[in-house]
Amino acid sequence: MKISFKRYFWFLSIFIVLLLLSSVTFAVSDYEEYVAKLNLDDLYDEYGDNIYKLDGNDYFVKILDNLTNRLDTKLHFEIHYVDSDVVNAYYIGDGKVVLFRGLLDRLANSDQRAAVIAHEMGHGVNDHIDGQLKSVIGLGIGSWLLDQIVGKDSSDNTYNLLKKFGLTLINKGYSRENEEEADLFSVKLLDKSGYNPSGAVQVMQILDRLNGSYNSELLELLQTHPNPQTRIEYMTKEIKKTTGKKPEYLSGEYLDLYFND
Ligand SMILES: [Zn+2]
Repeated sequence: MKISFKRYFWFLSIFIVLLLLSSVTFAVSDYEEYVAKLNLDDLYDEYGDNIYKLDGNDYFVKILDNLTNRLDTKLHFEIHYVDSDVVNAYYIGDGKVVLFRGLLDRLANSDQRAAVIAHEMGHGVNDHIDGQLKSVIGLGIGSWLLDQIVGKDSSDNTYNLLKKFGLTLINKGYSRENEEEADLFSVKLLDKSGYNPSGAVQVMQILDRLNGSYNSELLELLQTHPNPQTRIEYMTKEIKKTTGKKPEYLSGEYLDLYFND
């Protein structure tokens, strides 16, 4: 009797674990949608009338379409524009890209604008939210099991975890590895879509210059991304590899003139 109970318990445990794992795999995309919505709601709460979704005729959506045409992805991308001095751009999940005027105003050509959008798309196409979500859901399962033992309803807990994850994503951004992957992805996508991938290093030059002259509190992008010099180095290598040519950097004189305000 003792042995068969042990065996029964063993099978039951495996069954429960498999059940949980399969539900996690199926639920991740739902969670991503949910996290994207939480992130977006927070931004709409914060910026009110100063944030809105760009429609199909918008210049930036046309760039997004040019880039999406070269991609085989299930994601449906859209752009939310924030009319704010903050220099930033986010990918918040479920195809949602957020662009701030503070960054767009500093860009000088369509290659640079496409570079920013392609980088954010890179977070989406490479499933960066998914990867982070799995670990949060892993934590969620741990706390769910704990809740079952102490007899508590777990829905609040899961909500709080996801909410916290949503906030963390906006405040802290992605890992350095994820940022580098999105950067390298952007170089390749720009090249495939007929944009000059040099736009990507030019954006870094502009950010680097802003770093020394602009209100640092507004430079949110530099707080959540690797430093522009490091990004210029690895993107330069990627551009040489992809196009066989050196990137077209902005000259010091150009930057001096451009930032002479
Ligand atoms: Zn990024």
